[in-house]
Amino acid sequence: MDIVVIGSGLSAIGAVKALVNNGIKPTVLDVGNVLEEDKKELIDKLHNKVPAHWTSKDREQITSNDTVKNKGSIPKKLLFGSDYFYGKSNSYAKVLSQGSMPPFSYAKGGLSAGWGAAVLPASQIDIKDWPIDHNELDKYCQIILDDLPYSSVEDGLSLNFPRMTHKNTQLQLSTRASILLDKLNKKVKLKKDDTLYGEARLLVDTTDNGCQYCGECMSGCVYNSIYKSSNDIEKLQKNGEIEYFSEHLVHRLVEEDNKVLVEFFDKNGIKQTKKFDKVFLAAGAVNSTRIILNSLKNTKKDLKLKTRGGFVVPVFSFKSLPIDWPVVNTQPSLFLEYRGDRLEHWVHVQVASDNELLLKMLGLRTMQNNFISKLKRWIANHTYLLLVNYHSDHSGTYEVKLEGDTLKTKHNPAYPQFKVLMRSWWKLFTILFKIGSIPIYPFAKLNSGSYHVGGTLPMKNDPQDFETDKLGRLKGMNNIHIVDTAVFPSLPGTTIGLLMMANSYRIVDKIFSKDKDVKNS
Ligand SMILES: Cc1cc2nc3c(=O)[nH]c(=O)nc-3n(C[C@H](O)[C@H](O)[C@H](O)COP(=O)(O)OP(=O)(O)OC[C@H]3O[C@@H](n4cnc5c(N)ncnc54)[C@H](O)[C@@H]3O)c2cc1C
Ligand code: SF4
Repeated sequence: MDIVVIGSGLSAIGAVKALVNNGIKPTVLDVGNVLEEDKKELIDKLHNKVPAHWTSKDREQITSNDTVKNKGSIPKKLLFGSDYFYGKSNSYAKVLSQGSMPPFSYAKGGLSAGWGAAVLPASQIDIKDWPIDHNELDKYCQIILDDLPYSSVEDGLSLNFPRMTHKNTQLQLSTRASILLDKLNKKVKLKKDDTLYGEARLLVDTTDNGCQYCGECMSGCVYNSIYKSSNDIEKLQKNGEIEYFSEHLVHRLVEEDNKVLVEFFDKNGIKQTKKFDKVFLAAGAVNSTRIILNSLKNTKKDLKLKTRGGFVVPVFSFKSLPIDWPVVNTQPSLFLEYRGDRLEHWVHVQVASDNELLLKMLGLRTMQNNFISKLKRWIANHTYLLLVNYHSDHSGTYEVKLEGDTLKTKHNPAYPQFKVLMRSWWKLFTILFKIGSIPIYPFAKLNSGSYHVGGTLPMKNDPQDFETDKLGRLKGMNNIHIVDTAVFPSLPGTTIGLLMMANSYRIVDKIFSKDKDVKNS
């Protein structure tokens, strides 16, 4: 059987692993852009040294990021100074955007090339509009986590968000994170279904060969310790378990004679076709939607792309919090989850206790002894950041439609309903106040769109036009399965990366598993 997976991001890797585990060798067709050669050379050079031997020039080079200078907006995460993993309009796939452009990627590994690697399983309350049982998704989350580097501990988060592993691997907490966690443990009562906190769950390698505590997580990991799906793609390709082809930009899919014709542009821009028995489409929500609209032809349908919103806010701590930087991991260190009166969905808060971009913005990455530097250092000693995320029910949307060859998108910003905003801000304030901190809301940067998008072709029990069944198929399509977040009915605030890997694994497993229990469940 000839099976193809389109894409190499997180959604694709779930499907690819399920195929391989069911004894099938799939073809993977991908655009697959990679980091610029000069940057790769620098990374290879630094990879062979310990961080203590990096020069300040090395650090400047890998962390260069001009978006930090844009005072009015949240800095954009770059990878070693490159934005190559964010997709842009090109002559074969034009995009015209009104307002901000929704995120998509043409990179090998997709957006996971530069993501945060924060994961939580979904809570039932946040996916109650899904046609899939939440216990079933949990089962697949566990399969996914068993096969990945995963830093997690058994703590208060587990009251609602099971850790799903018996592995005991965890990152060392920084001094700041330990102090904050200690205060939370002493002052804030854990309450199932209401208020939870604990150490951040991260897909990061904590072994001796893994994280080297270099303090530069926000610019990409020189030691390749933060998981990205291209790691697995390369491993599977090397083992001969998949066939991987980059420089294939898929344009459309046509079902004929029980086969699927995949039409794509090759690296010279020439249109070609290949036939497969089944297609698992994982080009990311935006590009999968585009491929489907191209395939349906002549449709003028305006589709709604959901997103998760939220805000970033600095927090002032009454007590000074020692800074470990640069010998520290700077991914979010703690998670805080809360719900409650008029907060139907979980609000997901990532505590970035140690953040090098903040130090960069304050100009504190080099030691100076003048008055202004001392004042800034005092501010840094009393400040940390929170990244607060809401469910897609409380966020803006994008309109997506195809006009000729151009994908037109329009951002419709919408902030959470006033009651949600007020309740969530107040509850966050009361929790933080108990631990001697206050969020500085006047400096909060609200974000009505985010890097988390999906929901254009949602899965339904009884799918209508532009909706999919539980196996990601549109009406009238038998062998084209959409397996990325385009089929998510809604997006939980509590991260979506794990959920997308689990759901795409589930779809493939349901089709190919020889295990009767899986097929029947
Ligand atoms: C800075 C940042 C931080 C993030 N942090 C987190 C986090 O901490 N936790 C979390 O859960 N999520 C996070 N996310 C979101 C998460 O990374 C994305 O939701 C996820 O990676 C999307 O995966 P995907 O496979 O669906 O799509 P993508 O990552 O977009 O991958 C699409 C793949 O398809 C290929 N492709 C695209 N179009 C075509 C085409 N026409 N033909 C052939 N191939 C094609 C691309 O080359 C790519 O391989 C973050 C995102 C960003 C940008
Ligand atoms: S601190 Fe971050 S960037 Fe540095 S080695 Fe560890 S995971 Fe990688």
